[in-house]
Amino acid sequence: MDDQGCPRCKTTKYRNPSLKLMVNVCGHTLCENCVEMLFVRGSGNCVQCDTPLRKNNFRVQLFEDPTVDKEVEIRKKVMKIYNKRDFDFRSLREYNDYLEEVEDIVYNLTNNNDVENTKLRMEQYQRENRDVIQRNKAKLTREQEELEELLLLEQQSNDQRRLEVLQEEKKQLQAKKKNKQALLDELEQSQLPATILLAQHKVRAAQLETELEQKKQTVKPTSMFSTGIHMRQTVSLQPLPKIEEVLYQYQPIHIETYGPPVPDLEQLGRFGYLNHVRTALPQDTAGGYTSALACHRAVQDAFSGMFPLRG
Ligand SMILES: [Zn+2]
Ligand SMILES: [Zn+2]
Repeated sequence: MDDQGCPRCKTTKYRNPSLKLMVNVCGHTLCENCVEMLFVRGSGNCVQCDTPLRKNNFRVQLFEDPTVDKEVEIRKKVMKIYNKRDFDFRSLREYNDYLEEVEDIVYNLTNNNDVENTKLRMEQYQRENRDVIQRNKAKLTREQEELEELLLLEQQSNDQRRLEVLQEEKKQLQAKKKNKQALLDELEQSQLPATILLAQHKVRAAQLETELEQKKQTVKPTSMFSTGIHMRQTVSLQPLPKIEEVLYQYQPIHIETYGPPVPDLEQLGRFGYLNHVRTALPQDTAGGYTSALACHRAVQDAFSGMFPLRG
């Protein structure tokens, strides 16, 4: 961050934290003061690469690497022409090829790679796809408008809800006041002892409170996300139905070797096979190795190679 600075006047952000760096279409940086000085007439050439630049094309540099700023600007321009979307293609393959092409173009323009040909490619595409580009542009604008309309509706319904809540609160306050006044009147006029009157008042106040609480809850909540998706539309918090299945049962594998039957693991010792293999050392058995296992495999291998002739 410290070495970010203007290549012309050498002011750095370290020395002048309020330094405003600007970047133009060629991706080279200049500070605001240098821009003012060099582009008094509205246009001029880049100090670093001599590209003719217009002053009003300078943007505040947002990224530490000005090439990123350049790419963002280029991408915006390219996307205005290459505005097809997945449903404009017959297959995913075609869509992917198209995206690849777009990336190629953005990369070439950002890195000054074959710029002339890339621009020609873009122009050709633009000519060939004029109608689609227009149509998609209109569609995008329409979608944007619909979204804005939706947001406005949401805003309105929010305001309406807030108003309802306010009115409800006002009513509550009045009801409470009335209740209190009633108590005072009764205390003044009634023959009943004050303790009973007070108790009655308490019950009434509690009733009022619960009524008001219920009313508050009936104020309808939002029913739509700002994306236009209705709440509780498909989302279900119900547990997934459990699929009842027969439990898995292990079936020992049977391999047809066409050779003579191989003795079982525990038979190996009895038949004397184990006398011909090395006995497992304690450190071998720690890893799960047993002499019988290795011996069994070797016998299996040997036997499966034998094809006894059947008469
Ligand atoms: Zn400068
Ligand atoms: Zn430049």
